[in-house]
Amino acid sequence: MTDLDRLIRDVPDFPKTGIVFKDITPLLADAAGLRAAVEAMAAPWLGAGIDAVAGIESRGFILGAPLALRLGTGFVPIRKPGKLPGATVGEDYGLEYGHDRVEIHVDALPAGRRVLIVDDVLATGGTLAAARALVEKLHCEVAGAGVLLELAGLDGRARWRQGAPLRTVLRYA
Ligand code: AMP
Repeated sequence: MTDLDRLIRDVPDFPKTGIVFKDITPLLADAAGLRAAVEAMAAPWLGAGIDAVAGIESRGFILGAPLALRLGTGFVPIRKPGKLPGATVGEDYGLEYGHDRVEIHVDALPAGRRVLIVDDVLATGGTLAAARALVEKLHCEVAGAGVLLELAGLDGRARWRQGAPLRTVLRYA
């Protein structure tokens, strides 16, 4: 299998001093790397009855759309404030380098759908927890979360409530 770790670049002090940014653009640019990453993220969910993939802006879009194709589902965007054109519900949260808010279209998913939430990096876990809250506001079931890379030292996993698996492909200290 492709060595995915080799395709992830550390960028120190981006976007702020003290943050080591995990840059996945070399992986996205590598045909075998992209394929292997999407396959590894899809593997735990094949046959798991996922009805929709909800990807978090913006790198969760890049990984989430091919994952939805692989799982045979549609794709729903979870976006930063003011980006979605229709009526939305939102959720505010704190993140590793600031505060933010995510939104979803109120009519993005019919109630009762089993949704997989997707993002690139799990840091403090605030973004993923907010995305979960949004999906639950639509009265859908969060089947789980799939994230490419986990920064285990920030313990974001602790903010992910029990009841749905959180699966990551790569783990860093
Ligand atoms: P968090 O809410 O702290 O888990 O942050 C996760 C979100 O912020 C994801 O959407 C990531 O894309 C981004 N993020 C946070 N920390 C990093 C990092 N060190 N490198 C790359 N992306 C990050």
